[in-house]
Amino acid sequence: EAKSAGKDSYRFFAPEMEEMVLNQVRIENHMRMGLSNNEFYMHYQPIVHSQTFELIGAEALVRWNSPDLGQVSPAVFVPVAENSGLIWLLGEKIMEEACAFLAATPGLPQLSINISGEQIHRPNFIAFVEKVIADNALEPGRLVFELTETSLLADLKQAAEVMQRLRTIGVRFALDDFGTGYSSLSYLKRLPFDYVKIDHSFTRGVIENTDDQAIIQAILSLGEVLGFMVTAEGVETLEQLEFLQDRGCISVQGYYFSKPVSADNFRQNWIHRPANNV
Ligand code: C2E
Ligand code: MG
Ligand code: MG
Ligand code: MG
Repeated sequence: EAKSAGKDSYRFFAPEMEEMVLNQVRIENHMRMGLSNNEFYMHYQPIVHSQTFELIGAEALVRWNSPDLGQVSPAVFVPVAENSGLIWLLGEKIMEEACAFLAATPGLPQLSINISGEQIHRPNFIAFVEKVIADNALEPGRLVFELTETSLLADLKQAAEVMQRLRTIGVRFALDDFGTGYSSLSYLKRLPFDYVKIDHSFTRGVIENTDDQAIIQAILSLGEVLGFMVTAEGVETLEQLEFLQDRGCISVQGYYFSKPVSADNFRQNWIHRPANNV
């Protein structure tokens, strides 16, 4: 395309843009190697009951330790994977590792896995999920797939079909980063979500910012009316937790309880521990 636009077309890219594009390509190349060298692995963060601190579930979060680039944030490399098609291979590895962990951790009620739009729109996605569930002899009701609004944008109708199909076998769905997109409410009406996750940005301001308080309150009310469960992400302080407890938010997740940790660490601290001992 750039070529057909003439040789002056590079002028449309500011130097910073060019650097960004180069950086993307660099990350993409390292990811390609990293995928065959098994540099990607999963961490797990507990999701707990706000009153009893009982374990409700966990979220699987991908990590990348690159020998050349160091520890790279998924906020950086997941978008690169999505733009380059590498998300299919990466997404399959994530699904396999997370499901093996869930199968090997019977004390964990359920596990949430982040799914990119590119994955859900891929024709063999359902078959792949069914295969991993069968391979691990998993109870599908223990799986929750987290989707963001942006990931659904491409083809809402198709996303809805995939969701319906997987729901018939028992998989459940969460709408991630709720409130940060443009059309959250219409998504809730049109798609069958079991959970809605309140984005960090609202939890963060909940003590001093009355707007954030009102938004959280509104999401909780909406949950009661429309019948979804609300999980508050990014709970870091006791004050934030107390606000959520007072408003009846049952499900919470954040550094106050634990950072995302390795599978072994998770089992030691969250499966083989006495209750109420956070
Ligand atoms: P997300 O799905 O909304 O994940 C929550 C993010 O919040 C995670 O960042 C988690 O480590 C972080 N977090 C948890 N508790 C706290 C807290 O108390 N305070 C703060 N400030 N942050 C907290 P992480 O692991 O860096 O992941 C960033 C994003 O990358 C995720 O946002 C998700 O969109 C994407 N991602 C991560 N793992 C995967 C994956 O396996 N597959 C896909 N497709 N995307 C992933
Ligand atoms: Mg998530
Ligand atoms: Mg989120
Ligand atoms: Mg996010």
